[in-house]
Amino acid sequence: MKPIRVLIAKPGLDGHDRGALIIAQALRDHGMEVIYTGLRQSAVQIARAAVQEDVDVVGLSSLSGAHKSLFPKVVKALKDEQAEDIPVIGGGVIPAEDIPFLEEQGVKKIFTSGSPTDAIAVYIKQLFAGEAVQEPKRIAHIGIAVEDIEEALPFYQHTLGLSLESVEEVQSEQVRVAFLKIGETRFELLEPLSDESSIKSFLTKKGPGVHHIALEVDDIHRRLEQYKTQGVRLIHEEPKTGAHESQIAFLHPKAGHGVLFELCQPKE
Ligand code: ZN
Repeated sequence: MKPIRVLIAKPGLDGHDRGALIIAQALRDHGMEVIYTGLRQSAVQIARAAVQEDVDVVGLSSLSGAHKSLFPKVVKALKDEQAEDIPVIGGGVIPAEDIPFLEEQGVKKIFTSGSPTDAIAVYIKQLFAGEAVQEPKRIAHIGIAVEDIEEALPFYQHTLGLSLESVEEVQSEQVRVAFLKIGETRFELLEPLSDESSIKSFLTKKGPGVHHIALEVDDIHRRLEQYKTQGVRLIHEEPKTGAHESQIAFLHPKAGHGVLFELCQPKE
């Protein structure tokens, strides 16, 4: 397979390219061909270089704070060169507040300074393999640890006014679960069936309360594979069977900044 060609460019006036050079080297380490334009390039120069070098993707780096005007200019300059099919990604010192604007302006993806360089390489590879992970569809449910489902139910049924949808036992997790429907999502009350249940240890350590958030996805196997290559910490490396015969897997709460996330793919 032909290697992915990447143009790394620094638009604007800032004079530091250490970050850009680190990214360029990381992408080369991942087998990509990287062309670096050097400092202080105009949007038009960058777009022309992208066309001449026949690259697959343009990576912009900005530390100067001018990304909000510079990045969209590069997107526009590519369009003017009839090269709008070349995706533009950006990084550097970019506050989270600016990401929605830049993505609206046609920048495909922004990597903030917290992103590991490997994540950028993995993203580019996925982009060209047509394997980018899909956005999760919705919050499938919010898992709440309780000592006793019958004791907790009156609050959910009568105080909140929700209706109980189903109760079942999940032997693999040693839990009994009750689902209460709320709009497109659910509350999942989790009661331990034995001391071996992870819900039991959660209750012992933290007491009853919010335990996890489950996201509905339609690509759980692929997602877990990608997380493994990216070094995302997982509790389950392979999906297992959860409630309603769905396929589930948990990410490590350290990966989720203290939140335990479950991936959940419903049975077809
Ligand atoms: Zn769950």
